[in-house]
Amino acid sequence: MPVPLFDTETPRLPLRADLRSAVHRVLDAGRFVLGPEVQAFEREWAAYLGAAHAIGVANGTEAITIALRALGVGPGDEVVVPSFTFWASAEAIPHTGATPVFCDIDPETFCVTPETVKAAMTPRTKAVIVVHLFGNVAPVAEIEALGVPVLEDAAQAAGSIGPAGRPGALGTVATFSFYPSKNLGAFGDGGAITTRDDDVAQRVRTLRFHGSADKKDYSMVGYNSRLDELQAAILRVQLPELDRWAQARVEAGDRYEQALDGLVGLPRATPGARPAWHLYVVRHPDPDALQAALTERGVACAPYYRRPIHEQPPMRSYAPAHDLPGTAEAARTHLAIPMSAALRAEQVDEVAAAVRDAGLVRPHQ
Ligand SMILES: *Cc1c(COP(=O)(O)O)cnc(C)c1O
Repeated sequence: MPVPLFDTETPRLPLRADLRSAVHRVLDAGRFVLGPEVQAFEREWAAYLGAAHAIGVANGTEAITIALRALGVGPGDEVVVPSFTFWASAEAIPHTGATPVFCDIDPETFCVTPETVKAAMTPRTKAVIVVHLFGNVAPVAEIEALGVPVLEDAAQAAGSIGPAGRPGALGTVATFSFYPSKNLGAFGDGGAITTRDDDVAQRVRTLRFHGSADKKDYSMVGYNSRLDELQAAILRVQLPELDRWAQARVEAGDRYEQALDGLVGLPRATPGARPAWHLYVVRHPDPDALQAALTERGVACAPYYRRPIHEQPPMRSYAPAHDLPGTAEAARTHLAIPMSAALRAEQVDEVAAAVRDAGLVRPHQ
């Protein structure tokens, strides 16, 4: 039986009737922007995370730009960001006028560390973007202890738990994406910003609404960036399932860990973290050969960030003068294998058998 890379359909099947009635509720109410569904979702999302404030925005990319602006980031400032992440983590920075400064990661966790961040900091560092990549939980408190505000890019970490709480409630401000394939997905684009800081929350609310409270007086040049009522209603139906879906991802990861030990480099959860793996990403010295062997067996797999961000043409002018060895290793060796809230134990075993039967050289670790 073929195993898909991810499956967003199956977990939602039992919710179809509730999703339909949520959509009808919004159609009947006739309010589509900044109405009661968004307000309710913002309350429920903040409560779920243990954050003081949640503010819905249009997507996870604008969420980062707006959150940086709310922190006061602008021209002349530097923002430290990993290079091994989805492009949007860094793309959001030049829109504020600030300069991205790329830092390295630990290739076993795929996350930044206090050491890699510190190495990239200068007196101009205004904020650090920490990415909870693939659902792992980056060490936010240790990085904030360096004396700089942390923005958590938690787009891939809905449902994960860290030693000090959930991603989204660990740093000064955090951003989420509800793109359909994320751990909590809308039926279109959507995003949110969470924060413990009342002033940051107020600035985010103003920035998402053209820099205004009433579209009469304007205090900032802002954005038109809102989560809409339909998406909020759809997210509200799914939020009560998120912990169960996260648990299924945790269990699939645990089963992979048993089955694949010694065959590939396994993703290592950071100390005390329970990652709701968004993607399950292994490392292998010959990922292309592994991909060919798995594809042959009907097991879907894919590299995601083969060329790190600082090597992409629009960001080359920001590339650091020195190497980023952890980034280079992760970029060269990583391969995502199937993961979803619907991944069954037999499917994990099928994937593991396909990896074993590929008979490729063992990784050095
Ligand atoms: C998906 C994603 C984003 C961007 O979210 P969009 O809603 O697609 O704009 C940002 N950062 C990371 C790490 C992501 O995975």
